[in-house]
Amino acid sequence: MKRTKLNHKQVTMTDIAKAYTLAQQTLSESHTPIHIQVRQRLQGAGVRFFAGDNIADHLQKGEREKLIEEATAAFESVLQTLVIDTTNDPNSKGTARRMAKMYINELMAGRYEQAPDVTAFPNTESETRFTGMLVVTAELKSMCSHHHQPVTGKCWIGLLPSTKVIGLSKYARLAQWIARRGTLQEELTRQIADAIMHHTETKDVGVIVSAQHGCCTNRGIMAHDSTTFTSVLEGQFYNPSVKQEFLTYVQQASRFSCQ
Ligand SMILES: [Zn+2]
Repeated sequence: MKRTKLNHKQVTMTDIAKAYTLAQQTLSESHTPIHIQVRQRLQGAGVRFFAGDNIADHLQKGEREKLIEEATAAFESVLQTLVIDTTNDPNSKGTARRMAKMYINELMAGRYEQAPDVTAFPNTESETRFTGMLVVTAELKSMCSHHHQPVTGKCWIGLLPSTKVIGLSKYARLAQWIARRGTLQEELTRQIADAIMHHTETKDVGVIVSAQHGCCTNRGIMAHDSTTFTSVLEGQFYNPSVKQEFLTYVQQASRFSCQ
């Protein structure tokens, strides 16, 4: 029997076992749906993936498109279960795919996209340092994680800048990125305040969210004119005069936006 001489390295049984395990893993991954792979990855890393959490750091290139494909099949199954003729009803043809794209690219885009690019500028020069109150308004579109009904509203972000400020449009961009998920309004308000505090490094922040919830207007109590207000105040915003100044701006902004 002819023997093959191994010049470089002796292949051990351990090497063969490792190669076999790797091959098996690769084979099984290629047959495992992407949403299962991503879930396993998140669970392996001990990362929470609630409806209001961003998972962009754990998605690999091209996986978002594959999630749309898999969600399309899942939504098609839901439509079938609802006994809708998706073959002959022209308005229901392609609905599953429209729903999948809408969820991943629009309603819940803030789960799958990286945070907006937020550049901070120094606010340290003694002559130009801004020491007043900054109040920014942003429109919000969100979705309640209980019923997946639309939440439409507005938020007012107030802060007493510390040593950093960010571009005015970035406050709204951050708030909208956080809102584009499945959330509760209380959670949304808290997350916006945390993000502003993180990016501006100030401890003095006030956020008020006012929103109408599809789950109150389209179902349940069918309250067509129901608005929910939530607020988070941090640091100096508990100070009565600071709080009053913030509320005055919010009232003025609300009046102005109604005209
Ligand atoms: Zn709801």
